[in-house]
Amino acid sequence: MSGDGTTADMSAEERVKGTKAFLESRYSRVAKGKQEREKRRDMLEAQLEQRELPDDEKSVLLKQQEQRETEFMRMQRQRLSPDDFEQSTIIGRGAFGEVRLCRKHDDQTLFAMKKLRKADMISKGQVTHVRAERDLMAEADDENPWVVKLHYSFQDETYLYLIMDYVPGGDMMSLLMKRDTLSESEARFYIAQTILAVQSIHKLNYIHRDLKPDNLLINLDGSIVLSDFGLVKPLMHYATSRHSSADGSNPPTDRSADGLFHSNTTSASNWDSATRGERMQTWNSNRNSNRRAMAYSTVGTPDYMAPEILLEQEYGQDCDWWSLGVVLYEMLVGYPPFYGDDPIVTCRKILCWRETLHFPPEAAIAAHAESLIRKLLCDRDERLGRYDSAEIQAHPFFDGVEWNELREANAPFVPEIEHDGDTKYFDEFSEEEPPGPPNGRAGAPEPRSRDITFLGYNYRRFKEERTRANGDGITTE
Ligand code: ADP
Ligand code: MG
Repeated sequence: MSGDGTTADMSAEERVKGTKAFLESRYSRVAKGKQEREKRRDMLEAQLEQRELPDDEKSVLLKQQEQRETEFMRMQRQRLSPDDFEQSTIIGRGAFGEVRLCRKHDDQTLFAMKKLRKADMISKGQVTHVRAERDLMAEADDENPWVVKLHYSFQDETYLYLIMDYVPGGDMMSLLMKRDTLSESEARFYIAQTILAVQSIHKLNYIHRDLKPDNLLINLDGSIVLSDFGLVKPLMHYATSRHSSADGSNPPTDRSADGLFHSNTTSASNWDSATRGERMQTWNSNRNSNRRAMAYSTVGTPDYMAPEILLEQEYGQDCDWWSLGVVLYEMLVGYPPFYGDDPIVTCRKILCWRETLHFPPEAAIAAHAESLIRKLLCDRDERLGRYDSAEIQAHPFFDGVEWNELREANAPFVPEIEHDGDTKYFDEFSEEEPPGPPNGRAGAPEPRSRDITFLGYNYRRFKEERTRANGDGITTE
């Protein structure tokens, strides 16, 4: 975490950093908006060309498209507010806010609303992170089925809001808690889909950095959808971004590498002498209480973090492949490989992975699965996927996987959804906000009413369905 200045200094620094980043992102978005308009017009022209329509019909359709673009730009200037949505059940709580089911008043469309408290973002140095989260979700295009789709983002004085598709099947963490372990073929399906999902954000020049079961959502058809880009790291997007921790935007580990090596915490614990069954039980019961206990800490669980991130060394997109290895291990063994009673113990186990990575014989992990995990949980210069993620896809563990049809393949588990607002795959959360940590939500001052720290946060996705080209001709709605 940055510097050792006062909270006020940090806040000022955060605000300046945030404002600068938002301005940069705003300018790049204006340019992108123009490019997208041109692309849509080119596409329409190409379609019209193919249809060989008479010129006057063509020009009517082009005119209509222009009107829609103008209407869209007008709508973009209109401010949405939480009052435009009817808010209902809480489906998630995290470090910085909550996620709720909601319906847009005007057309009753169902969404998930993630709400983040601005004051916390500033006091905990998360301003650049929330911008990157919003940017990535806005950049992922409509054809990307792997990233949870953002429809709108907006803000009021106190909160930032992200309005996304509601993904009704719950998250992978809930599925694992129910099932303890997955079969090898189930794990293969989810891990293969996760690879494609992570690839899709790597292609956009981002690193996820927080890949773990609770950030893998399960769609209506049982497919994986990647969510929670709160720690996402943009590469080469802005002049200030660097491919290492030197820009101070590493995930918040709240502990220095020194602390990890010189901690008094010993790793001698019941865990090391426990049987696999006892470990699964501890992990599963701890997971619930850990989740609650950690909900308001920026640290989160370090179980899935790559050693180079913990050591605040140079890292790259391959840190996501380390996390993937941890998730695969957890799916097959029933608990993650570096679990410790205390997060500091976990961190030390991760750093000493050569000694601490074991495969319990009772789990009877197949040779290919173990080989893949070992090739992911290793030093960066040996890690599979460091040059190209196709290396991971080519591993024998994935023999037989039809990568091109993976999205349409039958999923091992298809949620049974009774109605569109069904939340049965999510935990129940109390409406009452749990008390925050000492310098957390309670202590952080509200931003000034005309604060420009989050300038340019607002976003609205272009509704492609308004202009639909089908086989029989161009239809508009
Ligand atoms: P945090 O940064 O606090 O971890 P997340 O974005 O991961 O926030 O959201 C917390 C939880 O809320 C997730 O683990 C998931 O269970 C649920 N959730 C988040 N977004 C959605 C969504 N679009 N649809 C359904 N559930 C969601
Ligand atoms: Mg999360």
